[in-house]
Amino acid sequence: MVAVRCQGLSKNFGRVRAVENVNLTLPRGRFLALLGPSGCGKTTTLRLLAGFEMPDQGEVEIGGRRVNAPGLHVPPEQRSVGMVFQEYALFPHLNVADNIAYGVPKGVDKKRRVAEMLSLVGLPEVAGRMPHELSGGQQQRVALARALAPQPALILLDEPFSNLDAALRQSVREEVRQILRQAGATAIFVTHDQEEALSLADEVAVMIEGAILQVGSPQQLYLRPARREVAAFVGEANFLAGVAHGPVVSCALGDLPLVETAHGPVEVLIRPEMAHLQPDPTGPGRVERISFFGHDQLVEVALPAGLRLQARTQPRLDLSPGALVQVTVEGPVVAYAH
Ligand code: ATP
Repeated sequence: MVAVRCQGLSKNFGRVRAVENVNLTLPRGRFLALLGPSGCGKTTTLRLLAGFEMPDQGEVEIGGRRVNAPGLHVPPEQRSVGMVFQEYALFPHLNVADNIAYGVPKGVDKKRRVAEMLSLVGLPEVAGRMPHELSGGQQQRVALARALAPQPALILLDEPFSNLDAALRQSVREEVRQILRQAGATAIFVTHDQEEALSLADEVAVMIEGAILQVGSPQQLYLRPARREVAAFVGEANFLAGVAHGPVVSCALGDLPLVETAHGPVEVLIRPEMAHLQPDPTGPGRVERISFFGHDQLVEVALPAGLRLQARTQPRLDLSPGALVQVTVEGPVVAYAH
């Protein structure tokens, strides 16, 4: 069953086209990342789904119910949507239990639901505490418990991890994913962090300048980006000019097999980890710069005709600036028509 469907969703702010003709379908129980650079329209999309903004055009369906259509705008509190914001937004004057109980509908045993939610988020002992008596990670879990307590059809999370420091972020991300899975919730989270989107989500929608350019699994998006813009935004990318001849493309790094047949001038996508370097005094490449990260290193190589290539290699490959190298590419590769 479909949890969210939107069709032809558009929103302008004056002359700014914040969201343009967005189509999105998300089955129940899935976790979708809405990924894009700052200002691309992610938050506006979330606010349209939540009902805080009125679309100029388009239809929205949540949990099988129409909430936006021409002449129809169901208010936020009637949409069966739970929100988790960047700044947690717990009510500061209510304790944890009252925060969680706040949106639970009448007729439901609130005490029991609060206990269930606190156990789900792994904080059974904090019911009586005030929000300021919790750590950032705990506040985020309580915010999630509060959003889940009314059992909404959809949970929306706006940059939920950006307020946490790097060390905490990793563990809270993982916890939030586990909690949502366990609750069987359908969720959309907004992020501009590609690693976060790829590592957490079941599906990723890439949004650039108000439009969704591709929706797919993290693997599809990274390995088979449908467009050059997606390839450039999701992960690191080298683009080399080439000429495609059916199943093969010829470029400065030789003849490489293509993922899909193509013909004529193209740009070839080479992810840095697809390029292998071999020290060789007769090699055509010259190491220009090395950034060492421990688990790997990013090596910038100058090639003939002014070309440059970034390669990620294993950390033990002993290279220094000025070294000459052979470059081979592990295909198949994706190419985009010029
Ligand atoms: P960020 O990652 O920086 O939060 P975003 O992808 O969430 O960005 P939005 O906040 O949706 O982007 O904004 C999309 C565009 O719409 C931007 O150009 C923004 O300036 C504009 N915008 C958003 N809200 C309003 C508003 N209320 N009035 C006018 N312009 C707005």
